[in-house]
Amino acid sequence: MVAPQEQLSDQEGEALRPNRMKEYIGQKKVKDNLSIFIQAASTRGEALDHVLLYGPPGLGKTTLANIIASEMGVSIRTTSGPAIERPGDLAAILTALEPRDVLFIDEIHRLNSSTEEILYSAMEDGCLDIVIGKGPSARSIRLSLPPFTLVGATTRAGQLTSPLRDRFGVISRLEFYEVDDLKNIILRAASILKLEITDEGADEIARRSRGTPRVGNRLLKRVRDFALVWGDGIVTQTIARDALNRLEVDPVGLDNIDQKTLRTIIETFAGGPVGLDTLASTIGEESETLEDVVEPFLLQMGFLQRTPRGRMATARAYQHFGYALPQKFMA
Ligand code: ADP
Repeated sequence: MVAPQEQLSDQEGEALRPNRMKEYIGQKKVKDNLSIFIQAASTRGEALDHVLLYGPPGLGKTTLANIIASEMGVSIRTTSGPAIERPGDLAAILTALEPRDVLFIDEIHRLNSSTEEILYSAMEDGCLDIVIGKGPSARSIRLSLPPFTLVGATTRAGQLTSPLRDRFGVISRLEFYEVDDLKNIILRAASILKLEITDEGADEIARRSRGTPRVGNRLLKRVRDFALVWGDGIVTQTIARDALNRLEVDPVGLDNIDQKTLRTIIETFAGGPVGLDTLASTIGEESETLEDVVEPFLLQMGFLQRTPRGRMATARAYQHFGYALPQKFMA
């Protein structure tokens, strides 16, 4: 329910995606900088420099890539690291771009190395070196490309190779959203969905949205159902609170997996430290999901600490769940 990864029902959420920079709420620093770079590139009639966006899922990377294209007045072509299997696939995409277009590659850390190498010269010199034929008759040809902007998105900037990272002129990290920003995102979504919601109702949902717009929009849609069945369709604070309790989203936005992760560290591993893989297999999740999706929010909330010896629950986590504080926190 609170999973920030994209799910099928999110497709109806396309309508909620802001199209212009001025509708994109929060992330002020990223937005302000990008707006300047976009304006400068437009004034010079050039393509925008390549942009890398990183941060946990659901924070608005794809949305921002689309906004960059609309603000530049160009088209966007969207693909993802795992979808580009061979260098030829990438060559086909690149050669079909119009001048100054945006190419958006989601999960760019998952590009395979032969494809990634093609990207180096495309990004830096605007050309493609392709080998055609096999064996003794093989030869290399160089194609020049229209100027383009690569927008790459990743949940893990640390997994990008440095030659790839170095070729991005702009590297921006998206942060979890403040409650006020999330509240505005929820109010905006409610108005698009023609849904009546009180200020307190929006606030309640915002607090439980895990700092993530995608989660906020999804919770709003679920609460809407409860409002219709339990009340007169208006999303009030009471309805939002009761509905979200029922959906096991706790008052600070921890979902099932978040809660399970912390309880397991506390109950099974005496508060830690415990290694990532051991923890992941104990709770039956992939290590990658734990690292990319669960941990960033728990770290941000101050419930979890990463140490060289493993993950540890903080005093705050013990208090949040009502456990007695162990001796080690008393010193
Ligand atoms: P990511 O690519 O980082 O996983 P998305 O760009 O797909 O995230 O964002 C998920 C959803 O959240 C979008 O469909 C959009 O409706 C909403 N959203 C994200 N960022 C914002 C924002 N800054 N303002 C308003 N809505 C947003």
